[in-house]
Amino acid sequence: MSKEVYYSSTRGNKENIKASEAILRGLAPDGGLYVPSFIPRLEKSLRELSGLSYQDTAYEVMKLLLTDYTEEELKYCISHAYDSKFDTEEIAPLSEAGGAYFLELYHGATIAFKDMALSILPYLMTTAAKKNNVKNEIVILTATSGDTGKAALAGFAKVPGTRIIVFYPKHGVSPIQEQQMVTQEGDNTCVIGIEGNFDDAQTGVKKIFTDPELAALMDSKGFQFSSANSINIGRLVPQIVYYVYSYGKLLKEGRIADGDPINVVVPTGNFGNILAAYYAKNMGVPIAKLICASNSNKVLFDFFQTGEYDRNREFVLTSSPSMDILISSNLERLIYHIAGDSAEADAAYMKQLTENGKYEITDAMRKELSDFFGGFATEEETFATIKDLFDNSGYLIDTHTAVAASVYGKYKAETGDNTVTVIASTASPYKFTRSVMNALGRGDESKDDFALADELSEVSGVEIPEAVTSIRNAQIRHKTVVDKTEMEGAVKNFLGI
Ligand SMILES: *Cc1c(COP(=O)(O)O)cnc(C)c1O
Repeated sequence: MSKEVYYSSTRGNKENIKASEAILRGLAPDGGLYVPSFIPRLEKSLRELSGLSYQDTAYEVMKLLLTDYTEEELKYCISHAYDSKFDTEEIAPLSEAGGAYFLELYHGATIAFKDMALSILPYLMTTAAKKNNVKNEIVILTATSGDTGKAALAGFAKVPGTRIIVFYPKHGVSPIQEQQMVTQEGDNTCVIGIEGNFDDAQTGVKKIFTDPELAALMDSKGFQFSSANSINIGRLVPQIVYYVYSYGKLLKEGRIADGDPINVVVPTGNFGNILAAYYAKNMGVPIAKLICASNSNKVLFDFFQTGEYDRNREFVLTSSPSMDILISSNLERLIYHIAGDSAEADAAYMKQLTENGKYEITDAMRKELSDFFGGFATEEETFATIKDLFDNSGYLIDTHTAVAASVYGKYKAETGDNTVTVIASTASPYKFTRSVMNALGRGDESKDDFALADELSEVSGVEIPEAVTSIRNAQIRHKTVVDKTEMEGAVKNFLGI
């Protein structure tokens, strides 16, 4: 029997709630993020884990952190999430190219890594509602930089007892990302563009979440909010699985010996994916370096360089829009841990972030970051990486993955570290077709993204995923655009309250 794990807010240690309650709530009432009372160690050996399917690996990991779910409940959630929605039985295949292993996390319904967690979150959430006798309808409120929105919509559409509202920056997502969202079916879905950037959307959502008057009104009408953003612990836990799984794959295929260290490179925005790798490391996966790759919004790179997190800078729109973020929400969990699981310290830093847009951690905390390496890639470097890798190995990657691959190249040149390395490949190149075609020197302003996808398929020999072909001529169902100050009104409007 695993030891019970409880969850408390990064900003206040007072409550200790069960995993299912933390998943239902999403964000803690004090605005903090739920963190586990301790990080459990894997129970099976790496060798044993290497023989498991993705689904069985998921169970091994999730049972340790979601301890109030029964075996039957977890297995139900896992088997319904990781099924034929993925276009490969492996769920998360590893491909070797250019001297690294690309962990392809984009074989789910919406062809980005968000599917890895958002295909299971609706099951974890509705199971949690049953376990906790929740009678209200659950309203999922989500801010998206492009990929979370569609993955959450796909997961929650038509799920009884839930509604989902997605806010996206009207001018900050790719045409294919937008088309994916605005064509979403399901009467319980609502998609709204905002005049503002992702940080505005995320800040607005957090504000709506923590408004006690609205919460009371919602409750009186039979609703309650939850979150599908990576602040929800139900997003983070399923993301740990593929780091465990990829280590097992490398071991099984004889690419590494049992216990050998590996490095992991993660193209980072909100810091959720790389935080999952950090948890995997702390659960016992021999990860040496956690390489955090940023695009030109390099606030995290600067943080790892100087120990100061400073969001006061120009927000840049890049070709890797899902990483165009200046407030990396999940960094708060790391801050909490490196401060010695101190909610008091974390709350003080987050207060400074809200008030001054910056904070600086102590030297002692910086020492705790020695396993992290921060890097960034410019737009030119990102494009050159796509082209070089394709020309030299025939392997095609998207812009986000290219940021990681570029940073990895620079890391290797700088350190001479030749440790076997896994690069998280977070989106299909077909999600960012125009940028990928530009990178290959085949851009064409006169063509739309779908025509470009046809060409990319001819050039690369990689088939266009069903997720793209199916939205090509789909009807647009969501047309609302509001100012960033009008988000709460839009929510009330959709719920009819
Ligand atoms: C969301 C996303 C990222 C960033 O992941 P975080 O967990 O927010 O750091 C990177 N690439 C793609 C394609 C994404 O959708």
